[in-house]
Amino acid sequence: MMQDNCIFCKIIAGDIPSATVYEDEDFKVIMDIFPAARGHVIVIPKKHAANLYELEEESASKALIVAKKVAKAMKAELGCEGLNLLQNNGEVAGQTVDHFHIHLIPRSEEDTVNV
Ligand code: 5GP
Ligand code: ZN
Repeated sequence: MMQDNCIFCKIIAGDIPSATVYEDEDFKVIMDIFPAARGHVIVIPKKHAANLYELEEESASKALIVAKKVAKAMKAELGCEGLNLLQNNGEVAGQTVDHFHIHLIPRSEEDTVNV
């Protein structure tokens, strides 16, 4: 299940530390190490899949349920006015970690994020 040399598999296994904001049996949500905006988190399925093409349907549907749950908590706690969901597949699309993940990027009038 764990893919060798996958950063996110190592984070899920606890071999690399991360700031976890949500966790259940299938998903982990962590702070992005290079945040595009304050509060930027990434939603990661525990079962390795390289990208959307390889993701099982069950993980795909649960990923959005987890994203929604965390998005609502972020709105309440950060007081952000909006949020971008971003999900990259393949190097040409900007994917740098080959373990499926969804970015949640809180947005406000003052930020300078380009996504
Ligand atoms: P991608 O470019 O593949 O869509 O997104 C990968 C994201 O993972 C990037 O935003 C990058 O900052 C983040 N990232 C890469 N390595 C680590 C790490 O070791 N810990 C955390 N928390 N985030 C990471
Ligand atoms: Zn992985």
